[in-house]
Amino acid sequence: MAVEIMYESDVNPEIIQGMKVAIIGYGSQGHAHALNLKDSGVDVRVGLREDSKSWAKAEEAGLKVMPVSDAAEEANLVMMLVPDELQARVYEEQIAAHLKPGDTLAFAHGFNIHFGYIKPPADVNVIMCAPKGPGHIVRRQYTEGSGVPDLACVEQDATGNAWDIALSYCWGIGGARSGIIKSTFKDETEEDLFGEQAVICGGVVELMKAGFETLVDAGYPPELAYFECYHEMKMLVDLMYESGIHFMNYSISNTAEYGEYYAGPKVINEQSREAMKQILARVQDGSFAQEFVDDCNNGHKWLLEQREALNNHLIETTGEKIRSMFSWIKK
Ligand code: NAD
Ligand code: MG
Ligand code: MG
Repeated sequence: MAVEIMYESDVNPEIIQGMKVAIIGYGSQGHAHALNLKDSGVDVRVGLREDSKSWAKAEEAGLKVMPVSDAAEEANLVMMLVPDELQARVYEEQIAAHLKPGDTLAFAHGFNIHFGYIKPPADVNVIMCAPKGPGHIVRRQYTEGSGVPDLACVEQDATGNAWDIALSYCWGIGGARSGIIKSTFKDETEEDLFGEQAVICGGVVELMKAGFETLVDAGYPPELAYFECYHEMKMLVDLMYESGIHFMNYSISNTAEYGEYYAGPKVINEQSREAMKQILARVQDGSFAQEFVDDCNNGHKWLLEQREALNNHLIETTGEKIRSMFSWIKK
């Protein structure tokens, strides 16, 4: 099924330039959306907690900053960029009462709408403008004249022009420069969660750890195991990102390419694919979302235990030592 992709010529910038936008939160996505919109000529204010450490940072960047409820009251488009697990509470306590008929509530990920943790009234638009990249890249690419592609979605069209608003917002953060892909809250939410769990975060990290541990357990030096199973990953991913798997294969040796076809399906085998299907099913039926929300309500107990264990893993302590030896990866 082909997706529809829109570019600058498909978008009306004047829609977002004529709106009052509130960016709620000033983290990874929040700072990028607020600054890009401001540079695109949009009337932006940032909504934060009064004790927020980001307050001064946003003001220093030249943005208007105010409490969340004031920002929501002033604006006719409210973009929710606080962490997913806090959005329902922030919405209930500081935003819901300030939404007027015809206002637009916007998200950068569909979690809370799709799984029903936020239920907006029928007379507001509910849209998504989701950059397919981390906030710092969204900002950097914009300042360099390009943009990270966005997914645009409409869950609820109260005014009849919710799509035009979503596309115009994506233009404002730079997405139209590289392409805005039309999607749905359901597809964005389920694909995003599956991808980060099975492949780009969960899958990749566990694959690198398992390879590293296999070599170390067999008596090889951790430093060399780190190079072979971790360090080289970036260079190969860069080649695939730029020009495809076939190009990475062209760049590596025939020995490595033969090994890829020979060993890959043995490591990612039927059992791994079955596990992926189960992960997708738990995303689709909402049980992953509920498990995550329950852990958040329990003070992130499980998450913090896992984080602690990862931080103490030999692959991390070895990596820190090695990275400090190389000038080309110093910050
Ligand atoms: P973040 O953790 O980087 O930033 C959240 C910010 O929210 C904080 O910096 C703070 O300024 C603010 N905040 C926290 N508690 C608050 C409160 N009670 N009231 C007001 N403000 C508060 O979050 P993020 O990663 O930018 O994620 C925001 C949204 O963007 C999420 O829906 C996420 O799924 C989505 N998203 C993130 C990325 C990414 O790469 N980080 C990519 C695409 C979409
Ligand atoms: Mg995600
Ligand atoms: Mg090698």
